Amino acid sequence: MPSAEALNEKKEILIRYRNLLRVCKPRTTRDDKLLIRKAFNLALEAHKDMRRRTGEPYIYHPLEVARISAEEIGLGTTSVICSLLHDVVEDTDYTLEEIRALFGDKVARIIDGLTKISGLFDNKTESLQAENFRKMLLTLSDDVRVILIKLADRLHNMRTLTSMPIEKQLKIASETSFLYAPLAHRLGLYAIKSELEDLAFKHMEPDIFETIFNMVKESEQERKRFIAKFIAPIRRDLAAQKIDNTILARTKSIYSIWEKMRKKEIPFEEVFDLFAIRIVLNVPTEREKSECFNVYALVTDHYRPNKDRFRDWISIPKANGYEALHTTVMSNTGKWVEVQIRSKRMDEIAEKGYAAHWKYKDGNQGESGLEDWLAKIRELLQSPESNALDFIEDFKLNLFSDEIYVFTPKGDLVTLPMKATTLDFAYSIHSHIGNNCIGAKVNHKLVPLNHPLKSGDQIEVITSDKQTPKSEWFDYVTTAKAKAPIKIYVKEERKKHAAEGKSKLKAMFEEYHIEFSTPNLNKFMHFKKITIPANLYLEVYNGTIGYKDLKTCFIEKEGETWFRYLKFPFTKILHPDSSDPSKTKESKEKEKPKTLLLESQVEKISYNIAPCCNPIPGDDVIGLIEKNGEITVHRTNCEPAVIFMSKYGNKVVKSKWVNNDTIRFLAGITIKGFDRMGMIRDITNIISKDLNINIRSLTLETTSGIFEGVLTVYIQNTDQLKTLIDNLKTVTGIERINRIN
Ligand code: MN
Repeated sequence: MPSAEALNEKKEILIRYRNLLRVCKPRTTRDDKLLIRKAFNLALEAHKDMRRRTGEPYIYHPLEVARISAEEIGLGTTSVICSLLHDVVEDTDYTLEEIRALFGDKVARIIDGLTKISGLFDNKTESLQAENFRKMLLTLSDDVRVILIKLADRLHNMRTLTSMPIEKQLKIASETSFLYAPLAHRLGLYAIKSELEDLAFKHMEPDIFETIFNMVKESEQERKRFIAKFIAPIRRDLAAQKIDNTILARTKSIYSIWEKMRKKEIPFEEVFDLFAIRIVLNVPTEREKSECFNVYALVTDHYRPNKDRFRDWISIPKANGYEALHTTVMSNTGKWVEVQIRSKRMDEIAEKGYAAHWKYKDGNQGESGLEDWLAKIRELLQSPESNALDFIEDFKLNLFSDEIYVFTPKGDLVTLPMKATTLDFAYSIHSHIGNNCIGAKVNHKLVPLNHPLKSGDQIEVITSDKQTPKSEWFDYVTTAKAKAPIKIYVKEERKKHAAEGKSKLKAMFEEYHIEFSTPNLNKFMHFKKITIPANLYLEVYNGTIGYKDLKTCFIEKEGETWFRYLKFPFTKILHPDSSDPSKTKESKEKEKPKTLLLESQVEKISYNIAPCCNPIPGDDVIGLIEKNGEITVHRTNCEPAVIFMSKYGNKVVKSKWVNNDTIRFLAGITIKGFDRMGMIRDITNIISKDLNINIRSLTLETTSGIFEGVLTVYIQNTDQLKTLIDNLKTVTGIERINRIN
């Protein structure tokens, strides 16, 4: 004969079981009900001799977890069954195989996941915990229900945490705030996330929790009066229009009030958004949008809205599916009040997040952002090099950093992490757009690449074919989608530049008649204190290493012996100078001209114009005999030529220009002076109109009123160049003109 107490317990268990069936009812068939009963009976039998720390029968716990899964998260029959059985394999003699035989493979797999992750947090070190969390998420990516049931389990344990010994309370509470609350947040389970945070806070900082809790309570009466007054005219209008509604005043959670006080360093009294008014409309889905806007109009008839704080998440829902109208209005007492307007359906999604989505989507998760997120997590977890600790840090960062929602010019929604910039946005559209991005218009205002974006911004990216990614762009972006292509581009660019620098350096070596050999290259690298050839080439490409360095390294330092670096011995004297005593009679008789006549008809004598000094007709020039017998013409004041002449006069050919009006040579000059209106026009007039000279390029750069210009023109000879310079000197404002050598 069972005791009265036992009978009462049995009665209570049945009451709780019937309550579970009641909350499951909207989504259960007769078969579902039978399965739930089967699971309940098994759990009841398996846990029959067990008690919770509170002294209650153990079955209360799986029953409550099942109720939370169904009612507070919105999960279906499979989850209810798994919730009822979640501790059976771990804590009783039942095996997974028995569960599989009774309930099938799907249920068994979920139970297996739940059993495996349970107790993983018993380890003390951080790294083990992180590794366990990684495992848990691996399991979760097999079936999301595992993690949702785990959250329901944790929520019930947190609600009954007081019965635990104090040190266990602290451990469970910190775990909850460290891992479970952020996880719930990321999954869109807002109500559960807030409750987990508050419960954890309550156990970790009981004094602060109580203080704030009391302050919220003490200010409650005043708040209630204020709210009643505030909503009275809205209520009246809603009633007049016969709109079925519920108006709630939602107070911020204790934990988020504390967060706000701490972050903004303000006292409780200054937390102005302690509560928000929520108007929930019970209207059919097809009318919900128009009704919400109707109610928005009605609210703003009474209170002036802050136009910067209006958010229409109905026309364009948030990436996580959130839908509502948000506005902040000025109350009669001069206090801003946030008002949220949404339908009952929207309200449920807002409270339960993704889980509620599944309910409405009939189990089809195909389009939910959660699937994308899980896919990403799966990728991360499966990559062998991912370190568990790094991973958890990344993961936590992602969890805590809020997202921003911005728009394309066409109004498409783009979700980005907080602190994302215009460049991140450009890359989020396409790597090509990012690579060519030169700036953007944010809300029609021109902004640079590193402009930080805010929720609600509308961004029009401006691109140019000329634009390419720069290494400093790394500092501008936060998203991986932007970082990866920049990295690839910068790396490739480096390679290209190094190759160009190498051929440039080779040409420089050749000009100085230094052999481009490994020993010479090593000597030069050693001289410049560079260890990697690629870095040397890059510096040559950038112009930070040039002729001067080459000269110092090979010519000045080595004094008389510099020629040992020469590529070839100058033994053949093709055009000996008559004054040179070393010349032979034989060569004299060849009747080669003592003076090389340079002109355009190069059929007679072929010559090259030296790129180092770029001589033009009229310049004093000399010819240098190259190894292949070709002659390179330098200006007589050209540095390599001067060195050459001073030592090897007999390998030099005196040269003179033959006048030829039809030939044009490129010459460059720099102009410096004070900028003014019409300066460019005056300069170009002199060049093209007065002197009829063709301009190849003209660039002017002005900094604080001083301009510096580089002009390249096609001219016939030095006389014409001199005339040009003289004429330019007459232009008002031009202070200095120099020819570029
Ligand atoms: Mn449990």
